[in-house]
Amino acid sequence: MRPSIDSAHAYASRIPSGLKVRRTRAGVHLFDVATGLNILLDEVAVDPQEWDQAPRQVSIALTNSCDLACPYCYAPKLKARLDATRVVGWLREFDDNGCLGVGFGGGEPMLFPGFVSLCSAVASQTGLAVTFTTHGHRLTAGLCDELRGSVQFVRVSMDGVGATYERLRGRPFATLVDRLDDVRQVAPFGINFVVNAETVGDLDDAVEVAVKAGASEFLLLPEQPTMQRAGIDEVTSTRLREWVRDNHPPLRLTVSTAGADGLPVCLPLTGELPSEAYAHVDAQGVLKWSSYDSEGVAVDDDGLMAALQVLRERGGTA
Ligand code: SF4
Repeated sequence: MRPSIDSAHAYASRIPSGLKVRRTRAGVHLFDVATGLNILLDEVAVDPQEWDQAPRQVSIALTNSCDLACPYCYAPKLKARLDATRVVGWLREFDDNGCLGVGFGGGEPMLFPGFVSLCSAVASQTGLAVTFTTHGHRLTAGLCDELRGSVQFVRVSMDGVGATYERLRGRPFATLVDRLDDVRQVAPFGINFVVNAETVGDLDDAVEVAVKAGASEFLLLPEQPTMQRAGIDEVTSTRLREWVRDNHPPLRLTVSTAGADGLPVCLPLTGELPSEAYAHVDAQGVLKWSSYDSEGVAVDDDGLMAALQVLRERGGTA
């Protein structure tokens, strides 16, 4: 039998200070932003009236701008950029309502004016873990210095190695590898790897580069369909499944939810609904269930929680 709500309060009163507490249908989730420690007390049943309402994670596309032109890019090409003050206000709301972390992306977030100040403001005004995804070519040692202390994790895109990378991303691979030395000084980092017919053969080499550079995670992103491209094909999906089955790299191997079908995954928070786990705000300020969705709710002066309420009332995918 699960402990009652009284027990939930009893647990909460013994939680060490410094840990963020999130109460949901999955139980009581404790999170330490400094270390990334997660503890789920899933034997504690929380009264639905007390569930935190913000999703556990939110991703925010700060800008649609990017100086690369990857053929499989799904970021909208419409020119759009968010306002940093609004973003901080939204994140304070989500923080107050139980969100644990934000991931900044784009486009390329390093092209967002005042990106370093934004990360610093979020770090000082909220208890959220801050991560961002970057192609890496705009990071300098100086920028990395400034970001240290405000960011808990960095995701660097590296689809293929050597000539494959250079053909797809149009930038020297050696430059990217050099940048990883600087990224390592900011925070723990991971590699994002779009898997398609052109990159799947580079998986072994890419993991080797990632391990050598000190990455702690390797995120597989099976290519998703866009208006221009069909996404990962069946033959490549099969090769990916075989690669995952046959390889046990010495770093954390993860996969995007979109594209995880057929792969062995471990879901630590099975009790959560998708709409309780994650939401996305695009560079036009539209809240959606994921960055792949075309429909959402524009965030107005009532704020992000109000937009979330409207999105939930509309129902939809999550
Ligand atoms: S780096 Fe990212 S945002 Fe830029 S074009 Fe490539 S996939 Fe798109």
